[in-house]
Amino acid sequence: MVALGSAREAAKEISRFNAGSSVLNTAPEPKLGSFSKHNMFDLSGKVALVTGGSRGIGRAAVMALSERGAHVLVNYVSNEAAARETLDAVAQAGGKAELLQFDVANGEAAEKAIAEAAKRLGRLDILVNSAGIAIDSLLLRLKDEDFDRILAINVKGAVACSRAAIRTMMRAKTGRIIFLSSVIGEMGNAGQTAYSASKAALLGVTKSLAREYASRGITVNAVTPGFIDTDMTSGLTDEQKSAMLTAVPLGRTGSAREIAAAIAYLASDEAGYITGQALRVNGGMYM
Ligand code: NAP
Repeated sequence: MVALGSAREAAKEISRFNAGSSVLNTAPEPKLGSFSKHNMFDLSGKVALVTGGSRGIGRAAVMALSERGAHVLVNYVSNEAAARETLDAVAQAGGKAELLQFDVANGEAAEKAIAEAAKRLGRLDILVNSAGIAIDSLLLRLKDEDFDRILAINVKGAVACSRAAIRTMMRAKTGRIIFLSSVIGEMGNAGQTAYSASKAALLGVTKSLAREYASRGITVNAVTPGFIDTDMTSGLTDEQKSAMLTAVPLGRTGSAREIAAAIAYLASDEAGYITGQALRVNGGMYM
């Protein structure tokens, strides 16, 4: 329980913070006809960090951002071989990326690694919070430690990384934060109470941070993927997969690249007037 005095102090601090908003419109209004197909969604000169960039959606996001010119920091927790494969793929495509290993669940280590990288590179423009885990279980069998682990990685980890990124972005008065939520956070799923809770939490985080940092030129959005072909879904049985696909009007799984395209869009200057939103990329599974 928060003492009344400290709650009052916090309220005063929040209103002082809101009143201090000096940046109302950081993105210059594009001139008519200034968007050519060659420079739309260009990220040249920007620095991006993708947590969980070693595999799956994170790897595809690394590719999409680096293909558009960003220098990308590729975070992973333990699978260095996969992270190196991502780096090789970036290099082959002519892009720039480097590894940044840390466990997002270790908030202190994550914040330190991000602050040091941002200082060394002189900026951090884009943060994609893709690191995540799923541990499926019926509620009656759900272990507290599994629930805690999911929240520690999927929610607290993403918040810690965002805190570190926002410190740098506030100084630059511009930034993009993108969370990987999920269709499961929106519609729920039997056997995924903990995962669903974590992904729904990210939608609340997205909206709160969007309101808190809009005046500092930082947009905060979420992507809510549907059923995407990655290691995370590879353990599903054929029966589970076909049951899920009956709920998808487009009748197929999505690819990591299709999610990455939405991420790259939200990271771009062209998405400068979008904040606090959840972009659904789910084949129509939830409307
Ligand atoms: P994935 O293929 O299982 O990859 C998970 C990634 O997260 C790996 O890069 C892994 O690193 C990293 N990671 C896990 N724990 C970490 C930690 N503690 N610290 C740092 N990195 C950590 O997963 P995915 O399918 O690409 O999913 C990416 C995100 O999209 C997740 O947040 C997931 O919940 C969300 N999502 C996925 C789907 C889907 O159908 N696949 C649908 C909706 C939402 P290592 O390689 O080092 O293990």
